[in-house]
This record gives sequence, C-alpha cells and structure tokens, in this order.
Amino acid sequence: MSEIGKYARTLAIQEGWLCLDFANTAEWHASDQPSEQLESYTELVEWAQGRGLLRPDEAEGLLRLAGQRAEQATAVLGKAIDLRETIYRIFSAHAQGQPGAPADLDELNRSLAAGAEHFRIVPGQTGYVWDWQAAEGALDPMLWAVARSAAELLTSEDLARVGQCADDRGCGWLFLDSSRNHSRRWCFMENCGNRAKARSHYERKHKEFE
Ligand SMILES: [Zn+2]
Repeated sequence: MSEIGKYARTLAIQEGWLCLDFANTAEWHASDQPSEQLESYTELVEWAQGRGLLRPDEAEGLLRLAGQRAEQATAVLGKAIDLRETIYRIFSAHAQGQPGAPADLDELNRSLAAGAEHFRIVPGQTGYVWDWQAAEGALDPMLWAVARSAAELLTSEDLARVGQCADDRGCGWLFLDSSRNHSRRWCFMENCGNRAKARSHYERKHKEFE
C-alpha cells in the first residue's frame, strides 16, 4: 500500500470522526421515518471510498467480490446498519447527557474485537501510523475502521463536544461542536437552524396579532 493511502486512511480514522459521519448516513434519524442513505452494499463501499478508507482498486475488488457473493454482501450491509444504529444510539444518548445502553456498548465491543486482529502499526512519514490488513475475502473492512473511530471518540476529549441537532422534526444529525462556548444547536444553520429561527419569528409575529 502506498504511503499516501496509509495517511489518508489514518486521517479518516483519527481526525474526521468517521463514526459520526457514518452515524449520519440515515437522514431524519431521530424521526419515525429515517431516510436510508445506505441502500446497497455498493453504497456502503462508495461511502468508505469517499472517506479515504478504501483506495479505488480496493473498492473495485470489494465490489467484484460482492458480485460473486451477493448473499454475504447483503449480510455485511445489514451488519453495517446494525453497527451504525448502535453508534448512533450511544452518541445520541451522550448528547442528551445519558450513558450508552449496556447492550449497545456490548455490541460496539464485539465489533471492536472483530476488527482488532486486522489492525497493525506500520512506519509512516513521521513515526508510525495505523493501517489494517484485510483477510482474503473479507467484505467488511470498512466496519473495523468505523468501530475503531467510535472507540477513539468515546475515549477522547472531543466526546464533550458531540452534539445533536435540536431540530424538532427529528433531524437527529450528530456533530462535533467546535464553537468556543459549546453553543451549537443545529446541524447546519442553513437548514434546521434557519427553519427554527423562522418559526420562532412566525410565532412571535403570530402572537402579536392574537
Ligand atoms: Zn438538523
């Protein structure tokens, strides 16, 4: 694997909080009818490639293999969604000041254990970096990285900055609040934030005329 590949993969795991990005692959996640963004194994691979977890040739290899093992690929997609929901519940709970449910932590720990044997330390450009070596025929290497990212965020100082969109329609988007006084309330001001503002403006106006 090239040096650049290792670096990109490491960045994706350690700096971008891959786990939050993955948790947000269902939109309107806190509503009764979330909108699924991962509807096929191909979409899961595309997501991982887009985040620098897979090089194009690795992504191609996985898709080829998935074509030969459709049933296994569907099972991996199911596993991915289960892991995503587990991670989503843990961080949503944390954003509300609650601990993660023991069953969810057990599930995350199982995913971590499944990925642990594949991770290794390799020399990087300066010092050492994380890399992994996928077992021949494994269709789920992106999930090891997601589980690892969740574990790292849960044990990092950034955990205090994990927030969830306050939108009352059930946006549910998880984010890292980098505002100085931890005051971020919405996923993006352009969507949920402006809507909330417009509504309170409307409500105020409405009251004035009552
Ligand atoms: Zn939102």
